[in-house]
Amino acid sequence: MTPLGGIETGGSKWHCAVGTGPGGLLATETIPTTTPRETIARAVAFFERAGPVRALGIGSFGPLDHDPASPTWGHITTTPKPGWANTDVGQELRRRLGVPVAFDTDVNAAALAELRWGAAQGLDTFCYITIGTGIGGGAIVNGRLLHGLRHPEFGHLRLPHDAELDPFPGVCPYHGDCWEGLASGRALEARFGRPPHELDGRDDVWELEARYVALGLVSVISVLSPQRIVVGGGVSTAPALLPRVRAQVAALLNGYLSADEVGVAIDGFIVPPALGGRSGVLGAIALAEAL
Ligand code: ZN
Repeated sequence: MTPLGGIETGGSKWHCAVGTGPGGLLATETIPTTTPRETIARAVAFFERAGPVRALGIGSFGPLDHDPASPTWGHITTTPKPGWANTDVGQELRRRLGVPVAFDTDVNAAALAELRWGAAQGLDTFCYITIGTGIGGGAIVNGRLLHGLRHPEFGHLRLPHDAELDPFPGVCPYHGDCWEGLASGRALEARFGRPPHELDGRDDVWELEARYVALGLVSVISVLSPQRIVVGGGVSTAPALLPRVRAQVAALLNGYLSADEVGVAIDGFIVPPALGGRSGVLGAIALAEAL
């Protein structure tokens, strides 16, 4: 059968792949995100070389228009990323490659990949949260990707922020101290003067970071009732983080959900992605598969 194409369009790189799933990737390429015109042209060239594909899935940074009935379906909309606001990605790739295209957020795509092949197999309601340069999340609810008005924006949850304990004002251009503003990789670097991977061994850093991640997750748990939470993204791979997050989530819930309800233990409730850093691009393939 003709393989599928997938693109994870990130703010700094596009990951492109041709294949059928984690065990069947035939070709991959990473393209730096420059101008829309140049980046799209390089992606088209990759699929012309590595294809043909019978359908293409795109998991994109946002905000974006995923509504198939909208005239601006396939567009990245109000992003602050220079040069990319109101950019047509989905319609342009559909026209140039001549195949059906599925278009959704990178985090919804990652959630779909973890459902299909990874850490959320067999579940019907869960979410995928990325703690990386930014913070975002996607969700499957009752077996379907969650959309609604636009798409979930987990990263812009407002958290309790004790300005005496942590006077840092936050980095979100819209809200200052929302979840992403306080706890993204960008926030860590601005607050502590170093990128997250240079902060290993700093207990104060990871205790504070775990506090914000746990506060966000407790809000997500309260609203969505997920059967599991998959936490990915570059910052989440710091060895000090997830164990502290689990402990703080358990403390914040204060027995309101029992160990039985969150699975056998909180260790199996808040988990890293089984597909690692490939969740996004594999999710794009899973989006294409679902067309
Ligand atoms: Zn925000």
